[in-house]
Amino acid sequence: MNIIFLGPPGAGKGTQAQRVCDELKIPQISTGDILRRAIKEETPVGLKAKAYVESGKLVPDEILVEIIKDRLAQDDCKPGYILDGFPRTVPQAEALEKIAKIDVVVEIAVADEALVKRLSGRRVCLNCGATYHVSTLGGKTTCDKCGEELIQRKDDNPETVQNRLNVYHSQTAPLISFYQERGLLKTFDGMQDIDVVYQSIMDALRKAE
Ligand code: ADP
Ligand code: ADP
Ligand code: ZN
Repeated sequence: MNIIFLGPPGAGKGTQAQRVCDELKIPQISTGDILRRAIKEETPVGLKAKAYVESGKLVPDEILVEIIKDRLAQDDCKPGYILDGFPRTVPQAEALEKIAKIDVVVEIAVADEALVKRLSGRRVCLNCGATYHVSTLGGKTTCDKCGEELIQRKDDNPETVQNRLNVYHSQTAPLISFYQERGLLKTFDGMQDIDVVYQSIMDALRKAE
């Protein structure tokens, strides 16, 4: 199954996508992770993307569409995949329609007030993409999955978070009606506990199979 995870920054897309991908044995394609790795390794894409990512702006569509085209052409995507963080604009969604057939769009809905709190306490592993929250780490500073040191993302500070929320509402939220019109949208209440959200998503995906 080819699945898109849609929702504002901090909604839980990465957290849920990682679990669903482990369960369904399909790759999680996180454009944020791909860009952060490229920035760290100072690749040509990384050098172009750095200023956008760090200030909370969207990286230009052409760059993202190229990244996704290359990634979806790889063999591990044949059984299906989850797109986590792509598409984020209508032009990206239109480009995607030309190269892939999407089966379901999972929208995770969370109120802005909760997002600021979630993002300020988020800790991530740049090595494997795992996501944590300080409130449940109990002082631990390394990744449970791979042992790497956890970091706080530069764009998770309150001012940049506000930019990202504005960007979400103006540029990404229009995708909700885009996919509703195509009969692909399923919306989940992302204010519930992580396990509850996960169960509802898995139930819906099993029915859609
Ligand atoms: P996204 O990928 O949508 O930006 P993440 O999966 O990185 O969101 O989650 C953002 C932060 O919120 C992380 O610190 C994560 O541990 C936490 N989080 C995720 N889902 C929930 C939830 N249902 N309830 C409370 N906190 C959550
Ligand atoms: P979050 O998990 O908080 O939703 P991501 O990790 O998905 O954030 O993305 C981090 C940053 O990477 C974005 O603020 C943006 O600068 C860039 N980015 C990621 N995906 C895209 C995309 N599809 N189009 C444009 N920029 C993107
Ligand atoms: Zn890790």
